[in-house]
Amino acid sequence: MSPRDPSTAHNPAAEAARDRLARVRVLVVGVGGLGCPAALALAEAGVGTLGLVDGDRVDLSNLQRQILHRVTTLGMPKAASAAAALRARCPTLNLETFDGRWPAGTPAGLLTTFDVVVDGSDRAVTKLALNDACVAAGVPYIYAGAVGWDGQWMAVVPGRTACLRCLFGDRDGGGEPTCGEIGVLAPVVGLIGFQQAMEAIKLITGEGVASVNRLTTYDGLRQRFYTVRVDRNPRCPTCGGVRGQGPGTRIEGTDCRG
Ligand SMILES: [Zn+2]
Repeated sequence: MSPRDPSTAHNPAAEAARDRLARVRVLVVGVGGLGCPAALALAEAGVGTLGLVDGDRVDLSNLQRQILHRVTTLGMPKAASAAAALRARCPTLNLETFDGRWPAGTPAGLLTTFDVVVDGSDRAVTKLALNDACVAAGVPYIYAGAVGWDGQWMAVVPGRTACLRCLFGDRDGGGEPTCGEIGVLAPVVGLIGFQQAMEAIKLITGEGVASVNRLTTYDGLRQRFYTVRVDRNPRCPTCGGVRGQGPGTRIEGTDCRG
């Protein structure tokens, strides 16, 4: 579906998908092991605008799995480093960078200015807070996590599908170690980050069946994928009272049957 892909020529469905991608704004929160591959795939797929949020600077230890950063950008804010790499590959891509941690280091109301949020953060407390904020804002949210040989992901469409708290309840995730602290394999975060981009593209284009109302897990040691049904909890502290599409949801036509 990329504008560069000649296979989309004279294919109305592909051209419509390409047009929807070109008009959409996607926010990637955290451009580390998950966010780098996700942002790269979204850029190459033809997304019109990418927002990049990260409060860290590029460290040598990041380079083996955070594929947009380079030796030449060591010490640079990660959002700017990732943007430079994406701009070099996709000169027409609109990029907005936010050199701060979400939410404290970013503008208030940031989420509502985007159509989809991809979670590349590395802390459980941030993921749960981002899920809550996206549901409140009515913005589709793509969760993922990866540790060691394992990873998982799920898409959330506010008011229409289960959210992360339907799965994890009211825990706050504080005190849990980050992926980087536990250790994670570069091929695993790469695979999971690309899946997040895939889920975002499906939500945007309305093609295929998004990974909603189910958690998909990946076992790298056994090279297997599993899916776990996640029913929407009517007493969920985050989405229990949310009905229909939220005010910020501009994604239409998505198959949310899961
Ligand atoms: Zn929920």
